[in-house]
Amino acid sequence: MHRTLSLLSTVFLVAGAVAQYTDVRVGLFQETPAHQIMVMGDGGPLSIWVDGKQAAQLAATDGLVLKITESGIQARSLLLDFSARKTITFRSPSGRGFRLRNMAPKTAERTYPGSLEVGRAGSTFRLVATVPLEEYVAGVVQAEAGKDHWMEYYKLQAVSCRTYALANKRRHAAEGFELCDATHCQVFQGRNRQDSIRQAVALTRDLVVVDSDIRLIHATFHSNCGGETVNAEDVWSKSEPYLVSTLDTFCLHEPHAAWEKSVPRAKWLAYLRKEYGVNTDDSNVVASVTEYAPECRDLFLANISPRVSLTRLRNDFHLRSAYFSVMPQGDMVVLSGRGFGHGVGLCQEGAMHMARKGYSYTDILHHYFTNVHLVKLQNLDFFRDDGM
Ligand SMILES: [Zn+2]
Ligand SMILES: [Zn+2]
Repeated sequence: MHRTLSLLSTVFLVAGAVAQYTDVRVGLFQETPAHQIMVMGDGGPLSIWVDGKQAAQLAATDGLVLKITESGIQARSLLLDFSARKTITFRSPSGRGFRLRNMAPKTAERTYPGSLEVGRAGSTFRLVATVPLEEYVAGVVQAEAGKDHWMEYYKLQAVSCRTYALANKRRHAAEGFELCDATHCQVFQGRNRQDSIRQAVALTRDLVVVDSDIRLIHATFHSNCGGETVNAEDVWSKSEPYLVSTLDTFCLHEPHAAWEKSVPRAKWLAYLRKEYGVNTDDSNVVASVTEYAPECRDLFLANISPRVSLTRLRNDFHLRSAYFSVMPQGDMVVLSGRGFGHGVGLCQEGAMHMARKGYSYTDILHHYFTNVHLVKLQNLDFFRDDGM
């Protein structure tokens, strides 16, 4: 009897999970808040709901201009003229989605899958698209990864974007949506138009990346690790079992593998004295901070006391990475560095190189993230409940 009950509850949990994960609610135009917009169907009509009640239909050839007024939202087109107190919702019976243009400030028209809810937040619109998860993922991969990548790289991006979306669904809860469409979350500029991306998303459908405790991972990435990725706790305060330093030869000959920067020797020494109290009257100390060549990634400059954080040096001197050597040259010191970015998690140029060499996206994932697994998102609750 008990067994039957627990089996039933598992089935309900899985079914609940599917409904919960099918759509994402995305806040649109987060970087260019809109005062006036135009909404059109994408090759089909839109049904219009005003303050929660079905009210009209927008013909496929018509465009509806919306403005904010004192009392709510005013809507006008060739054929329609009405107003709403709080919200206007557009649904696409054909499933083809909608087109949206920001009229003030003016932006290019974008096409979105799903439905649109228009409300207001003060003097600007609050635009929330409800988009099927897989279509959202395809749009994000197109906006974030761009063109001309290998299929395995697109698949890697697809599982990363999907994982991120599900792990961050509470990020904008106070604003009435789940994720924004800007770099704060993931850039989403509407429907994907690239076949190879659509294919990559379909081939990884519903797959997300979890750690050994079945928690969705933060698939952190950077441009180039310079040959060795970094432990999460060495850059941020918190460690993660899957963000662990690993050697990487795949990025060594990629565009951002190396950098160089010259700094006046006097400025370098003055900084170390002022910020860290380094004794720059001691010639041995001066020699170690102006001639420093680490064999692998270090956390601190040279072997001196007090310790000087390389991550902080990177920030203060605007360096491409915290992985560099120092050589004196006349009245300058030359910093020769490796990599670009914080170095934690996925090294993008290394991953692209692996994809080009024929590695699968799962190989790439396991190379950069320690002890992670791919699971179907519908099974997340099942795995989690299993241990209880
Ligand atoms: Zn956001
Ligand atoms: Zn790398």
